[in-house]
Amino acid sequence: MSQERLHIIGGGIIGLSAAWYLQEAGFAVTVVDRTSLDEGTSFGNAGMIVPSHFVPMASPGIIKKGLQWLLFPDSPFYIKPRLSLDLAKWLWQFYRSATPKHVTRSAPLLLEFNSWSKHLYRAFSKLEGFAGVGYEEKGLLMLYKTAKQEREERDIAEQAEQLGVDAKILSAEAVQELEPEMALDVRGGLYFPSDAHLAPPIFMHRMQTALRAKGVTFLTNTEVTGFATDGNRIKNIHTSTGRPIPTEQVLIAGGSWSKNLLRQLKVPILLQAGKGYSITLDAPEATPRIPTILAEAKVAITPMAGQLRIGGTLELGPAENGINTRRVKGILDSLPRYYGNLNTSATEKTPVWQGFRPCTPDGLPYIGRSQKWRNLSLATGHGMMGLSLGPATGKLISQILSETKPSIDATLFTPDRFGPF
Ligand SMILES: Cc1cc2nc3c(=O)[nH]c(=O)nc-3n(C[C@H](O)[C@H](O)[C@H](O)COP(=O)(O)OP(=O)(O)OC[C@H]3O[C@@H](n4cnc5c(N)ncnc54)[C@H](O)[C@@H]3O)c2cc1C
Repeated sequence: MSQERLHIIGGGIIGLSAAWYLQEAGFAVTVVDRTSLDEGTSFGNAGMIVPSHFVPMASPGIIKKGLQWLLFPDSPFYIKPRLSLDLAKWLWQFYRSATPKHVTRSAPLLLEFNSWSKHLYRAFSKLEGFAGVGYEEKGLLMLYKTAKQEREERDIAEQAEQLGVDAKILSAEAVQELEPEMALDVRGGLYFPSDAHLAPPIFMHRMQTALRAKGVTFLTNTEVTGFATDGNRIKNIHTSTGRPIPTEQVLIAGGSWSKNLLRQLKVPILLQAGKGYSITLDAPEATPRIPTILAEAKVAITPMAGQLRIGGTLELGPAENGINTRRVKGILDSLPRYYGNLNTSATEKTPVWQGFRPCTPDGLPYIGRSQKWRNLSLATGHGMMGLSLGPATGKLISQILSETKPSIDATLFTPDRFGPF
């Protein structure tokens, strides 16, 4: 029997992970991407693999905090002001989702999904073709300076304990012992020993090489511009190369641009881009050992493969290029408040990278089949956790499309939860 031809639109971490498991499930997989797959959101992110992140972005308290952040030009959160029905609908659903009930329902699922993904990453890191991806299980440190933030972190630690996640509140002295090279100026930290990290660009390149070797086809520098349909099926994919591509299954994994692709198929989804920035330096002499989030500043710091990556900011808006230098300065200015000896002078000569987190209103991804188009499915909307959730998403969508029993109950991820899909 000939293999079913499946096209994945988007070669970020979600598209490539899906390609891996769908190819193993017996599909003839082609990945179509408009870039040369050397850069983009899945390359410049902080590389954290985070079972610790079981609280979805839409959670109680976030609205008040978000409104306060909007007042400061260098704060970690911003909404680009504009008249947009899409944005209004997104914000309304975000507001409705930011409830204790939503967190109680979602937290065990996010934990299970992230833990599954971590195990799959661990397995990748042991494969021959994945040497040097920098996969390490050193945990994640949330450093805080204020009593208010300490209360928030203690609250998270309590929730973690209830869910069976290892989490420790540490004194300033105990944190200092974990980071002997750094002159820390903090009140304490929350340490999650079970988190992991890797170097995303190396992983993305190793993954492409391995996929090509497995027989996955890549159409790079090829933008998908539309679809031809026949009844309730997609028949052809139209691209910038001009030649229609006949298809049997389409998986959209277009990150923050998935919404534009789906609009052409008349299945609108609620999705906003959360722009963020990162700067990658050759590791300074005194470098943190453990991936860290500066809790008040919401800045992520990851030592990866001899380098140090510093990232942050979430600007909610359309996925459009442009660097807001005040927010980049906000990221960099936060560093000396926590570290007395982190030499970041090289940042002046280092280009700033920008990426777009695909954000859903309830902080859960969209993974599943379309009801309207029989051969369309979707895997996107992973927001701040797309790198972390890549492999588990790939495996889950392969189980859904090959009609084997999913390893987790993915009902909460159904793409039509805010409207028909
Ligand atoms: C500063 C920052 C730090 C982050 N840190 C972390 C972290 O530590 N851990 C974590 O888990 N997550 C992190 N994230 C989030 C993570 O990077 C994203 O969730 C993830 O990369 C999204 O992957 P994706 O495959 O869905 O989308 P993308 O990587 O954006 O891939 C989508 C692809 O679709 C292609 N595409 C779109 N439209 C078309 C079209 N019409 N035709 C052809 N191709 C198309 C694009 O070219 C792109 O390659 C961070 C994000 C940022 C910005």
